[in-house]
Amino acid sequence: MLFNKKMPKKANCDDKMMDDCLFCKIIDGQIPSTKVYESQDILVFKDITPKAEVHLLVIPKKHIIGLNDLLPEDQQLMGKMMLLLPQLAKEQNLDDGFRTIINTGKGGGQEVFHLHIHLLGGSKPLPFA
Ligand code: 5GP
Ligand code: ZN
Repeated sequence: MLFNKKMPKKANCDDKMMDDCLFCKIIDGQIPSTKVYESQDILVFKDITPKAEVHLLVIPKKHIIGLNDLLPEDQQLMGKMMLLLPQLAKEQNLDDGFRTIINTGKGGGQEVFHLHIHLLGGSKPLPFA
């Protein structure tokens, strides 16, 4: 059977990187980033345009577009990301607290379509986006 190379990749179909995804390229090392934490399935790096003293992006290594694209099988991965947030906040000395934001879809202000959790903190007033 012939394999059609031009067949578009299904969104959120597997753990492989998406060729045209900025954050997949960061995971792959094609685009540099300041990494803060890395595990088998999660990467955390500094936002290139920080909107707070501390502004980290927590992403799954699996290409998931956004919250609307989560599958039941992503439950454990999402749980791991949630549990990581207070750990990262502690490491960043955000003892007073921190803000987390997930923008979903264009209407939700999402600009990079690879699921990410913003972790924001510091003494200055925090933004909402
Ligand atoms: P969104 O608006 O999709 O929720 O957030 C995307 C975030 O990715 C923005 O805060 C933006 O500053 C950040 N960002 C965009 N391009 C890059 C990049 O090349 N490297 C890093 N580290 N962050 C990026
Ligand atoms: Zn991606």
